[in-house]
Amino acid sequence: MEQITPAPPETTPDVLVVDDTPANLQLLTGMLKKHGYRVRPVPSGRLAIQAVRKIKPDLILLDINMPDMNGYEVCEYFKADAALKDIPVIFISALDETIDKIKAFSAGGVDYITKPFQFNEVEARVQTHLKLRGIQVELELRNSQLQTSFEEVKKLEELQNNLTHMIIHDMRSPLLGVTGFLEILALKGGKTMTSNDLAILSGARSSALVLVDMVNSLLDVCRLEQGQMPLNLGILDLDVLIGNALASLGSLTGKVSLHYQKPTLATLVKCDANLITRVIANLVGNSIKYTPKDGQVTVSFEDIGDGTVKLWVSDTGSGILHEYHQKIFDKFGQVKTQHSNTRYSTGLGLAFCKLAVEAHGGKIGVESEIGKGSTFWIILPHEGSP
Ligand code: ADP
Repeated sequence: MEQITPAPPETTPDVLVVDDTPANLQLLTGMLKKHGYRVRPVPSGRLAIQAVRKIKPDLILLDINMPDMNGYEVCEYFKADAALKDIPVIFISALDETIDKIKAFSAGGVDYITKPFQFNEVEARVQTHLKLRGIQVELELRNSQLQTSFEEVKKLEELQNNLTHMIIHDMRSPLLGVTGFLEILALKGGKTMTSNDLAILSGARSSALVLVDMVNSLLDVCRLEQGQMPLNLGILDLDVLIGNALASLGSLTGKVSLHYQKPTLATLVKCDANLITRVIANLVGNSIKYTPKDGQVTVSFEDIGDGTVKLWVSDTGSGILHEYHQKIFDKFGQVKTQHSNTRYSTGLGLAFCKLAVEAHGGKIGVESEIGKGSTFWIILPHEGSP
């Protein structure tokens, strides 16, 4: 590819003046030179192209009426070339020539000057467009620097994510080992250990299981984020999924007054049973967690008629400030609340729910008011949907 030398930076601006009338050429060249510009005069369009290809000027003053190639054609030529199109072109026209302003701008000119030349006007226009060009160059430079930094940050973030994922993944097996060994120890020591020691052992095992849970949640969230969790879709009765979800919560469901409004007709949904059961368990588990002991948690659902089914989990708990209604669905999005029925909290549960529901083409949301409680809802495709 042809090499075009740009005008040296931070030096006197380089202006190319193109005019086939020697008197005009001389006049403009003289005026600009006197005021410190570096000027290259050329008498024709073709020579202008040659001059620009040799050294890229900072600005071009271009006569319109020239034999061979007129000013519009020369300008269009520059604008069609990616390497030259950013040079500002100011058209000049003699007194007896009419300038087609529309044509001048549509050919790519930034301005025009008509004869008789008032040097102040010529200088002001040249200076303005040189300044504008300078700002544009600066902006382009900043933009490309920003783009480079953004790409570097993205690469680093990806690297960090991969590393975290690897560490978390590798933590899973030893953690399962710890829980297993603690269980064996508890079984073996059942007869010989004091009840106090057995309680300590059981506490250690519960804590290790919480860690296993955290690791599993993180891995699931990562997999869902990367679209690497295949859905095992089936046609399932929502009532069965809710039953399984409540059963998975075990004794936790006894901590508040729990109502499940079961509809008389079976409602079938198209979903991954394991994922949606865990979503429901998460929502109900949270409601129990953030509701005081004398509070109430209600689970209900309804076919809302547009090929979707809506499920609600409502509680009379602490409620969530409106400004957090979106944030809580982000990874590690947590809000400090007054009531919490358990010690462990990861801020991953709702992120998992959102990703899992959206992977089904569904939606999730919350309506909540401080002091009154929260209603989390999910919308899932009905059994018949494509
Ligand atoms: P975790 O409960 O482990 O912190 P989640 O992602 O499940 O993580 O929830 C994120 C945050 O949303 C919680 O920290 C809590 O502040 C808030 N939250 C979730 N469910 C409820 C609820 N039913 N009532 C009040 N706050 C809730």
